[in-house]
Amino acid sequence: MLKPMLKRRWGVALSLLAAAPAIWGLLSLDGLFVAPGTPAPAMAFGPGLLPGFMIGASTALLLFALFGNLLLAASTRQVSFIWYAAWAALVPGWAFFEVQLSELLFPGLTSAQNSSIASLLAVLAVVAAGIGLTEAIRNDVPARLATALRCAAAVLLVIGIAHGAATGPLAAQLELPREFAVLIAAALAAVACRIAWDRNEAARDFALSFTIPTLAMIGTFDAPFLPKLPAASGNFLVLLACAMQTFCLMLIGARRLLLAYRERDAALSQHNALTELAEQDALTGLYNRRGFVRRADALLGRAQGASLVLLDLDRFKTINDTHGHDVGDRLLGAIGDALRAAGEGALLGRLGGEEFAAVLPAEGDTEAAADRLRRAIAAARIGDGAIAITASAGVSAASRPRAFLSAYRAADRALFAAKGNGRDRTSSDTDPAFAFDAAE
Ligand code: GH3
Ligand code: MG
Ligand code: MG
Repeated sequence: MLKPMLKRRWGVALSLLAAAPAIWGLLSLDGLFVAPGTPAPAMAFGPGLLPGFMIGASTALLLFALFGNLLLAASTRQVSFIWYAAWAALVPGWAFFEVQLSELLFPGLTSAQNSSIASLLAVLAVVAAGIGLTEAIRNDVPARLATALRCAAAVLLVIGIAHGAATGPLAAQLELPREFAVLIAAALAAVACRIAWDRNEAARDFALSFTIPTLAMIGTFDAPFLPKLPAASGNFLVLLACAMQTFCLMLIGARRLLLAYRERDAALSQHNALTELAEQDALTGLYNRRGFVRRADALLGRAQGASLVLLDLDRFKTINDTHGHDVGDRLLGAIGDALRAAGEGALLGRLGGEEFAAVLPAEGDTEAAADRLRRAIAAARIGDGAIAITASAGVSAASRPRAFLSAYRAADRALFAAKGNGRDRTSSDTDPAFAFDAAE
């Protein structure tokens, strides 16, 4: 759903759409910062139907995008997402106060308080934008430049808090540092954009989205270097610009997240497929030694223990010698199928050559299960059914946790006993015969 909506040309179209009202708003702003003691400015927008509708739509968009951004940041817990969510949360706050929606929402506030809150939010937002931008292009900028950008953002933070907290005549005294902060913000956005432009698309997206509302924000300060234009009738356009840019940020963030998840999923399934392949025996389709030992170790190490069965084909060499190696291979494949069919619920593997193994629950009759597996091997046929083979089994059962190697040693000695006692039989490490063999 998100992907077609977020194609590059859509991103550009949205940015241009947002840029137009921002620039228009900039040009028609009349500087809303009010020195304490001066009368409050008139409401920037008249009662008309269209401005009312625009403000309502922009506010709804802002709230929706704000919620989306916060959700994104919470779900990713990535530093860059958290910073841009902070930015996207501060910008609407600033816009609310800047376009005097606050007069509707908080009628108790004086216009001087409104101005101070708007200024504080604006400077904090510029700081968050600065840090967010350096985060977004972190891997692309030299460490020293990133540090310089962060320092500039920290300076802005200090000035912003001082200014926001300042009331009375102090606000007027802070005029100069505030304008200095605005200049730093402009430089910050320009530098970050310049760097991002030459680098990757994600950084470019972020830079674009941060810059336009930053410009709108800068424009609302009554800085001496900005042209003074009549009437604040374009105020609601500032709100619209902020809404659309906040929305843009949400879409960009969602796309990046989606791509990151997709890449992660693809890498994970590729990794799983390769691991599966690396742990599978090509001839029989059973686990190879590596895959079997890893899983067997975990099963045998459990508190309730498990049983290990080793199965070795009897005089398999004669099959190779009589019929050829390829016939031997086909027989091994048929035995793999037979074991899979008979050993349901058991962990099965081919440890190498003509030696197979199974791990079974400790509580069952392991010797009977081993006999069942041997019978399945004996019943496996290839060609016209004339070629078949028997197997000997060594069993070691324990209802306590063990390492694979200790179980393997015990089962191998039992297997040795089964071979020594005539083959085509099962021997357990608890058999008296085994005790005799083992003592040897
Ligand atoms: P025993 O009953 O004592 O186990 O006799 P055996 O002949 O089965 O045992 P031995 O260890 O003497 O020989 C095992 C043979 O298995 C030797 C080797 O040629 C054969 N072999 C091992 N891996 C493969 C394989 O992948 N394919 C084929 N066709 N033969 C294999
Ligand atoms: Mg053998
Ligand atoms: Mg062998």
